Amino acid sequence: MTEYVFDPPATAAIAVAGSETRFPVRRIFCVGRNYAAHAREMGKDPDREPPFFFSKPADAVVDDGVAIPYPPATDNLHYEAELVVALGRGGSDISEADALDHVWGYAIGNDLTRRDLQLAARDLGRPWDLGKGFDRSAVCGPLHPAASVGHPAAGRIRLDVNGDTRQDADLADMIWSIPEQIAFLSRSVELKPGDLIYSGTPAGVGPLQPGDVVTIEIDGLGQITTTIVARD
Ligand code: MN
Repeated sequence: MTEYVFDPPATAAIAVAGSETRFPVRRIFCVGRNYAAHAREMGKDPDREPPFFFSKPADAVVDDGVAIPYPPATDNLHYEAELVVALGRGGSDISEADALDHVWGYAIGNDLTRRDLQLAARDLGRPWDLGKGFDRSAVCGPLHPAASVGHPAAGRIRLDVNGDTRQDADLADMIWSIPEQIAFLSRSVELKPGDLIYSGTPAGVGPLQPGDVVTIEIDGLGQITTTIVARD
């Protein structure tokens, strides 16, 4: 057995709906600008771009119901409601036709974003890492097995802040479908079980303040709630 100079960190994991068993997370990939109206609100033309991805550290995952301190180094924390895809099988060069066979399940996610840092980096041609991949930036609700909920290609996705609806769209409005995202990513990196894909957010992104309660609903996947609390 390998000996380490200190105990390795715990495996990052997300909940499975109706089960005590958790789903181990290997990598987190996120699609940028995958709904046309959101691409436009970010000042980009949705018709001219191939899909692009950024990533978050696996240990940025946060369960439903956890209070999140307002993060450091930002004055503009944003919510982004997203469908999260969890892979149970990996592979390279996965075809679109086979892609959904690799999906273990689906969850509701919130791609928390330090928008001020992200936009400054974007405009300077620098990496997005610290705008996107900070601690507790990947809220992920319980995972629903595809074996029970199927593969949602359409359905309402809605985000409320303190009861006011801010994002309200349909999963069918994604520019790049889930099979297209899996196939595209797998031509660039070898995917493995435990990989998550945050599939992009619809229009209506906006800021959060300490005290705000964020609820996100996706048809068939229930609802998750996140409270933002004062900075640590
Ligand atoms: Mn996002």
